[in-house]
Parts: sequence; C-alpha cells; structure tokens
Amino acid sequence: MGILICHTCHATIDHFESEKVTFLYTKCECQHCSQQDEEK
Ligand SMILES: [Zn+2]
Repeated sequence: MGILICHTCHATIDHFESEKVTFLYTKCECQHCSQQDEEK
C-alpha cells in the first residue's frame, strides 16, 4: 500500500495501490499549508 503524506502538516492525504509500502510526500490543501504558501 502506498500512502500520500503532506510534508508540511504530516496529514495522511490519500492511499494508492502499491506492491510494497511506499510513502510519498506532497502538499495538501489544508488551511495551515495554504497560509504558509501565501507567505512565500
Ligand atoms: Zn497539509
């Protein structure tokens, strides 16, 4: 099983089919992450 994780807030965003356990880091659209994005 693969797991998508937000690299900013570490929230589990989604799961996807995978032969082995895989963690992928991406950015979710939660309020916390959106606020950090605006500061850049
Ligand atoms: Zn997030």
